[in-house]
Amino acid sequence: MDPLAELDARVTRCAACPRLVAWREEVGRVKRAAYQDWTYWARPVPGFGPPDASLLVIGLAPAAHGGNRTGRMFTGDRSGDVLYAALHELGLASSPLAVSLDDGLTLRGVRVTSPVHCAPPENKPTPEERDTCRPWLVRELELLAPRLRAAVVLGAFGWQAALPAFAEAGWRVPRPRPRFAHGARVTLERGTPAADGSGPVTLYGCFHVSQRNTFTGRLTPEMLRDVLREAAGEACLPPYAPPDSPPPAPG
Ligand code: SF4
Repeated sequence: MDPLAELDARVTRCAACPRLVAWREEVGRVKRAAYQDWTYWARPVPGFGPPDASLLVIGLAPAAHGGNRTGRMFTGDRSGDVLYAALHELGLASSPLAVSLDDGLTLRGVRVTSPVHCAPPENKPTPEERDTCRPWLVRELELLAPRLRAAVVLGAFGWQAALPAFAEAGWRVPRPRPRFAHGARVTLERGTPAADGSGPVTLYGCFHVSQRNTFTGRLTPEMLRDVLREAAGEACLPPYAPPDSPPPAPG
């Protein structure tokens, strides 16, 4: 089995955080009225995207009735609607819609993950839960390292959680640690020369795609698209040319 697929499978069996295990399962039992017919995933949600991704999108944690219901990152909630619409516009997602595990959505060159893999109450993991979950992100970064060139980090929580994970996975994080801001950009060099092709990774700060940010206009689709486009350029993911594009005019 591909090592990243194996990691994803192991993540789904983790039960290291008693509060989050209890919460994710209770949410799956009680359910939201609109989803009474669903069998909630109610387990840790692994990263989503190909093993050769050169761009990583790092969020916070699965949403109680989004990823915790569907079993896939940013799938089945408003945050995902905004994120995948932007990725689709840039040719990085096969569809702007992410509704369920079997909806056929695929990503090109980009992987979506989070520093905490279980839905937390009020979207607020404790620092201890964040630290307990870090080894999963560290291992994911190690496996992606040979191709990884850029990461878009959504929100201050993800930023603070991601920096130590990058450090543990072999990148040099400046001291003092760079602060989160929308539009922040920092390049992390590899700590030691690596034979596996891994190199520097540029981190981009972006406001989180939460409803609170997108409904209030703090984060607009254009702002998100601009950050993703810049990061995709850094990650050598050129704009996708649809197969039915007309050939260029001669001459
Ligand atoms: S948050 Fe992470 S470490 Fe905690 S139970 Fe979920 S997968 Fe395991």
